[in-house]
Amino acid sequence: SRYLADRMSKLGTETAFAVGAEAAEMASKGIKVYPFHLGDLNIPTPRHIREAALKALEDGKTGYCPTPGIAPLREALAEDVGKARGLNLGAANVSVQPGGKPVIGKFIMAFMNPGDEVLYPNPGFPIYESMIRFHGGVPKPYGFIEVEDGFALDFEAIEKQITPKTKLLIYNNYHNPTSASSDEAEMQRLAELCLKHDLLVLSDEAYFDILYSGEGKSIASIPGMFERTIILYTFSKKFAMTGWRLGAAIGPEDLISHISRFNVNDESCTAHFVQWAGVAALKGPMDEFYSMMETLRERRDVAVDLLNSMKGVRVSRPNSTFYLFANVTEAMDNLGMKTVEEFRKKILDETGVSFTTRNHFGSPLPDEKQYYIRLAYSGISVEDIREGLSKMK
Ligand code: PLP
Repeated sequence: SRYLADRMSKLGTETAFAVGAEAAEMASKGIKVYPFHLGDLNIPTPRHIREAALKALEDGKTGYCPTPGIAPLREALAEDVGKARGLNLGAANVSVQPGGKPVIGKFIMAFMNPGDEVLYPNPGFPIYESMIRFHGGVPKPYGFIEVEDGFALDFEAIEKQITPKTKLLIYNNYHNPTSASSDEAEMQRLAELCLKHDLLVLSDEAYFDILYSGEGKSIASIPGMFERTIILYTFSKKFAMTGWRLGAAIGPEDLISHISRFNVNDESCTAHFVQWAGVAALKGPMDEFYSMMETLRERRDVAVDLLNSMKGVRVSRPNSTFYLFANVTEAMDNLGMKTVEEFRKKILDETGVSFTTRNHFGSPLPDEKQYYIRLAYSGISVEDIREGLSKMK
């Protein structure tokens, strides 16, 4: 359109949604589709949370509320998130948001000047790069190295790119799409780098609670880091609430107050009754969460075993998220394929197994030699995992 602003040419997207549309199109023709492309859950929001939303509506929680969120939710988040991460938080450390995603754009807008360099994971959630570019920043992607039990941060790539213009670092632990999870040493090393170069950090903790064993750790809990870290928190995955749009930016009060200023200019407040559902989520029983985690664990194990039984396919058993990032380089070689998109299309067309690839999470970096696909097991039954992956095999 001739009306379009110039900056719109710099706005990115989530190309994974195009795969979803393709799968839906096939399904509408009566073709059985196995949906491994969705980062969404086919598990309902726990009952007590739904009931709390209904009650809030009945109780008239339908008007505007304070822009940084209702006090009970900010307090509950401060307590819950603080306890899980070993941080001493209060309501002033919390800005409630309509989802986790808005925290990304608001973080960039609040703290990045045009020309500033921003380190971010690639492969990674595509919105980071989209927002950096849109607001005139200089994207500095860093990758991951495949190690024995998954993926590790490519520190060399991070270190080599730091210049006096590098101001922000985006860190996504646990990581979409690789499911990489930092051990203590890796997180410590990253924190030291941020301290040394005076970087401000967006810690995207969307999958913090989707952890199969052990306890989660946030980079914000490392000494010196809280002051320079904004945590992206979301109810989407932990409470199966992706469509409710509820999340928060959490961090030092002086930084968080600037994030809340966007709420005044954008949405005024996050949906009022939805915030009461958030209070119920944080204060209510956790049995449905534990049962969701068991469901996810079973799906993970079935999918990992089947994938590893395929010739030329290799995947580790991640301890977090609901994604499998499988190396298919050898399988592609065996089939004489040159692009991972060709691999994806062929399997989709011939079996109905629908997944995304590394290329849906940013452009491959120049030194990348391996090919990967991402399978999400959050939105597919264990029976369909078995059936679909058997066909794929
Ligand atoms: N960050 C990562 C890494 C994600 O994968 C997602 C969603 O898939 C989000 C943030 C945002 O989720 P939401 O906006 O639903 O909180």
